[in-house]
Amino acid sequence: MLRAGAALVLALAAAAAAEGTARRTPVYFLADELAAATGLAEATRATVGPESGYVVRSASPHVATKSLHLPAGAELRLRLGVDASGHADGRRARFSLRARARDGASATIMTRAFRADEPAWVEARIPLDQVGERLGPDLRFLFKARAEGGAVPLWGDPIVVAPPGDALRAPPFNVVLVSIDTLRADRLGCYGGPATPTLDRIASEGALVEVATGAAPSTRPSHATMMTGVYPCVHHLGTEPGDALPAGLPTLAELLRAQGWVTGAITEGGYLDAAFERGFGTYRVDSAGTLERPTGRVEDVVADARGWLARHADERFFLFLHTYQTHFPYTPPAPYRSPPATDRRIARNPAVPAAEYEAHDPDLYDGEVRYTDATLGRLFAALDDLGLGRETLVIVTSDHGEAFGEHGHFLHGEQLYEEDLRIPLIWWAPGLLPPGRRIPQVAGPADILPTLLQLAGLQPPAWVQGRNFAPALREDPPIVVGENMVYSELSLPAGGTHPVAVRGADWKSIFSYPWIRDSPMILFMLSKDRGERNPADISRERAVSWTTYLGQECARTTGLIAARNLLRPPDPTSGGPRGRGETG
Ligand SMILES: [Zn+2]
Repeated sequence: MLRAGAALVLALAAAAAAEGTARRTPVYFLADELAAATGLAEATRATVGPESGYVVRSASPHVATKSLHLPAGAELRLRLGVDASGHADGRRARFSLRARARDGASATIMTRAFRADEPAWVEARIPLDQVGERLGPDLRFLFKARAEGGAVPLWGDPIVVAPPGDALRAPPFNVVLVSIDTLRADRLGCYGGPATPTLDRIASEGALVEVATGAAPSTRPSHATMMTGVYPCVHHLGTEPGDALPAGLPTLAELLRAQGWVTGAITEGGYLDAAFERGFGTYRVDSAGTLERPTGRVEDVVADARGWLARHADERFFLFLHTYQTHFPYTPPAPYRSPPATDRRIARNPAVPAAEYEAHDPDLYDGEVRYTDATLGRLFAALDDLGLGRETLVIVTSDHGEAFGEHGHFLHGEQLYEEDLRIPLIWWAPGLLPPGRRIPQVAGPADILPTLLQLAGLQPPAWVQGRNFAPALREDPPIVVGENMVYSELSLPAGGTHPVAVRGADWKSIFSYPWIRDSPMILFMLSKDRGERNPADISRERAVSWTTYLGQECARTTGLIAARNLLRPPDPTSGGPRGRGETG
């Protein structure tokens, strides 16, 4: 199934890993250096073909960095591209990069003609030891380029990397965050559903959070919480594409990039639009951003992920992967179309018209889950083939579930019942975390960022609302940090009243937020009422502590982010790895 070229790259990278190639870590992100030099809070981005990224827009005569000190073994890694939008014949360009020493001596590092028939981005890697020997280790980089017909030549995310040494601390592990959109936890074998061999194995080798619940029953707000560690009441990212995360609220990718991780994303676009690009050196959109392509989406994402991993195997990296394969329409390939041989199929609600189940067939949804699970096997195989299995943390999760008539609804986004909210959350890192853990604590997307930072030895920023459950993953015996509560919000008018659910270990309450006096606040005791059939109205008996807590937390966090904006620029994520030590 693997393309021949990709197989060769994998084999070469695996051979390099076997030879003990030292992991390289970024010393300078040059796009960030140039942005800071011109007073911008962050580097500009540009999109060419299916990929966007940070860029240096080169002009005549040139743009130049300040003098940078190069460690031994430094190498420049970058991509060349041309933004030819509006310039049909403008995909030819000439690139020229020079280094200049303090005494004015200079040397050409590379020249490259970019042809019209080349792929969108062309990668280049240039060892810098030779130029350092000629000119000394303190150099300015001069970027110069010219394209035909008014098109814009782009230097894609030029990074100086070097082997870690005394002065350069490498991040402790790689991170791959896999979000399978619309994946109900209970459709995986490891959560009590039909067998899903890949993820069942990954869960048995890693840690599984038994009760994980999405931050919203829709894609954008829940992913925004996953990427920032704050709830929708703070980031306010809406359900439809177009709006942006608040300025001054760093994303996981920005935080990790600032600490020396090379960052990339491969998504299927759509709802994950430009709002999610921040912090990713490369952000690739497969499938042209549509949900309509019936099959093969996850295969594209995993194939591209294998290629990305092979190209970055000698770096410390954070790779975010996202697929809509399990999102409606349910159209798995033929081998996965017949009902699973199990008595664990999704129960049909007899009160719902049969035509609804013909239009939204739960067996075909399960087929999509099995197909996705089988395809993910190739991702884990690539990590092993590349020798990365024992130094990589893989997190597998989702943004929300999917309803099949349990409360009359189908799809997702209209209600806060368990079928809409329960998601898997699996942490796999054979070289870093003990195997076979099941974490009884309730957790959700907000908890991923603080837990991940803690595992990497970094302090989560003060505004993060999620909780760190690293002690439950790592310590022996596991330390459970008391009962957690996870909030889920239905829709997000800034300041407007909307339904919110709060989930504890065996209970859930749904109320309107901000709370209106005497409005209903219902409680489900899930240990006795798994189907959420018998709501108790507790609005008069119980204090409104959950709404008060949520309100106080949202106000506190919003205030911290607003205070950060008063201090921008410089943005802490734009200072490059030299500014390490602070995550916010
Ligand atoms: Zn979604």
